[in-house]
Amino acid sequence: MPTNTFAPSPLFSSFEHRRVLKKGDHAIVVGAGAFGGWTALYLLRSEIKVTLIDAWGSGNSRSSSGDETRVIRSTYGANEFYFDLNVRALQLWKEHEKLWNRQVFFNTGVLWLCHHEKCSIVDESIPFSKKHKMEYEYVSRADLAKRYDVVNSNDLHHGYFDPYGGYLKARESTQLVQETFVKEGGTYVNAMVSPADKLSADTIIYACGSWLGKMFPAEIGERITCSKQEVYYFGVPADHAKKFDSFPVWVDADDKDHYYGIPGNAWRGFKVGVDRRGKVFDPTNGERILEPEVLAHARGFLAHRFPGLKDAPLVESRVCPYENSPDGNFIFEQSKSDRRVWFLGGGSGHGFKHGPALGELIAKTLVQ
Ligand SMILES: Cc1cc2nc3c(=O)[nH]c(=O)nc-3n(C[C@H](O)[C@H](O)[C@H](O)COP(=O)(O)OP(=O)(O)OC[C@H]3O[C@@H](n4cnc5c(N)ncnc54)[C@H](O)[C@@H]3O)c2cc1C
Repeated sequence: MPTNTFAPSPLFSSFEHRRVLKKGDHAIVVGAGAFGGWTALYLLRSEIKVTLIDAWGSGNSRSSSGDETRVIRSTYGANEFYFDLNVRALQLWKEHEKLWNRQVFFNTGVLWLCHHEKCSIVDESIPFSKKHKMEYEYVSRADLAKRYDVVNSNDLHHGYFDPYGGYLKARESTQLVQETFVKEGGTYVNAMVSPADKLSADTIIYACGSWLGKMFPAEIGERITCSKQEVYYFGVPADHAKKFDSFPVWVDADDKDHYYGIPGNAWRGFKVGVDRRGKVFDPTNGERILEPEVLAHARGFLAHRFPGLKDAPLVESRVCPYENSPDGNFIFEQSKSDRRVWFLGGGSGHGFKHGPALGELIAKTLVQ
């Protein structure tokens, strides 16, 4: 979940209204991850006939959306577009929880651990948090030590607590979106699509995550690259389980590694991720085996920041692909060679939370 800040990009001009679809038209969405699944659902709700296709199923283990949990937070530095998109996403996640009668959003709050007096990713979002009446709470170093005694705060300057964020159940909600899509009248097909396939529809949206660059080398190519990212689930000590499990989602805003974690993590262990880009990865054939030096580095960090977890055993782990765009912004653009075709991707390690708001925005953009 990248915690770097990035400037708005030409992505935003893609959301100028391009009413290419009218009610009753047929759209195909290839890829049933967070981006494709929600887009298919919102197109369907805009009275478009939609076929959703995925090679291995929504939230499958190769996909970026297939991990257990994902962080949801509005904080994006000075980037108001993503702040606003997340505010809308939060509303939609809550609405869908009611529809599904299932908890997928865990409102633990997000604790930002700031190393210096200035912490641009948080500081620059404060005006937006005030605008939305979603203000953060400043936590001095002394209060950090008092309130969160599992954290070593000696090298921190202060913290900020965002009470509105937390985490989402990722794989489960991705599958719920696909089930809802079918329940509401969409057609789901389990198949591998090749760009050479002659798909017949008024609009075709390729939302193929990490695969997109290789599938469309001329139009996307290196603009979406895939890197190997590791997440670790550590077992907390039995006598302190409650203390660790109830800790908020946290981000170590050190401007370097950007470790972050989801302590509750749907009871699968204290989750730790590192936002540094890993090795280039093949999302189809790459083996999901951890890099010993990346794990060793994470253990070193954990022992320092959460001393009580110094000897915590690794109880589960995952290798997930990041689908990186050059600047971290999402990509949504029309093909130059076939105007029926659109490319959607570049979630760049932070896209999951936005799924419902992005799907809604794309449907509003495309449907008359
Ligand atoms: C380690 C890690 C941590 C992250 N942390 C966060 C976080 O905390 N918060 C957050 O919001 N986001 C986070 N993200 C990012 C987020 O998970 C992704 O941006 C998001 O899931 C991308 O969804 P997607 O639909 O674009 O891709 P995917 O979920 O990968 O879906 C693409 C789908 O396309 C299918 N497909 C591919 N090629 C074909 C084909 N030829 N034919 C048919 N189907 C095909 C695949 O099977 C797959 O299901 C993280 C990502 C990783 C890897």
